[in-house]
Amino acid sequence: MRSSKVAVVTGASAGIGTATANALSRAGFRLLLGARREDRLSAVAEPLAATAIRLDVTDPASVERFAAACPDCIDLLVNNAGAALGVDRIEELREDLWRQMWETNVLGLARLTKALLPMLRRSPAAHIINIGSIAGFETYLGGAGYTASKHALRAVTRTLRLELLGEPIRVTEINPGLVETEFSIVRFDGDEARARAVYEGMTPLNGEDVADCVVWAATRPLHVNIDEIVVRPRDQATATRVHRTVS
Ligand code: NAP
Repeated sequence: MRSSKVAVVTGASAGIGTATANALSRAGFRLLLGARREDRLSAVAEPLAATAIRLDVTDPASVERFAAACPDCIDLLVNNAGAALGVDRIEELREDLWRQMWETNVLGLARLTKALLPMLRRSPAAHIINIGSIAGFETYLGGAGYTASKHALRAVTRTLRLELLGEPIRVTEINPGLVETEFSIVRFDGDEARARAVYEGMTPLNGEDVADCVVWAATRPLHVNIDEIVVRPRDQATATRVHRTVS
């Protein structure tokens, strides 16, 4: 008999991933955390007595090494690693950025899921939670590289739900609106002022708000599958309709 359930969280070195690791630890899960920045990942893992393993989901060899370091049985996989890069219109398309987003948000997620499915199948009650976005069903100017990747993630999640039907594996997609993390700093290539402006005059979600959704979905009775959660700040009605107070 295993003493506690095992959860894998990708992209745990920052933002939603870090908050999810903390929240799952509080909920009693034993954790394996993955991301590229090992120093940041270790700092998250240490106080949780979690295992930190370098992971680049875009690199098949890295995914293979990560999977080899995982225990035989995994109960929960949170596919959170992801990024938006730039806000270029299609006429100014930068293929390298699109490729990186697609490699991370779509192919990387599917690659890691494939690698960990054998371990998830050894759990009597497994769960895959994919962190999508409202960009998975909305569009906005300059957002096509990211929104197309999150639309694709949505297709992957829904296909998994079909393909795993009949097995004791739940599949959930959590789609947040604006969350203040390092997301916009990454999107604007380190321009912190531009990133701050995204959340100006409104109250965004924080990583903990999304982590709450992950823990809630993961702790429903086993016959309940939360297919999808859409969670936005009260100040945000759509990707482009945001209420801001001007000071
Ligand atoms: P964040 O603070 O930038 O965190 C992103 C995480 O993903 C980091 O831990 C990063 O770690 C990891 N990551 C990026 N590329 C990776 C790769 N190739 N391999 C492994 N890990 C990788 O952003 P966040 O807001 O927490 O984003 C988490 C997820 O939420 C993403 O999927 C994002 O699309 C989604 N989301 C965010 C928002 C928002 O407004 N913030 C809204 C909707 C959805 P390393 O750099 O150390 O690898």
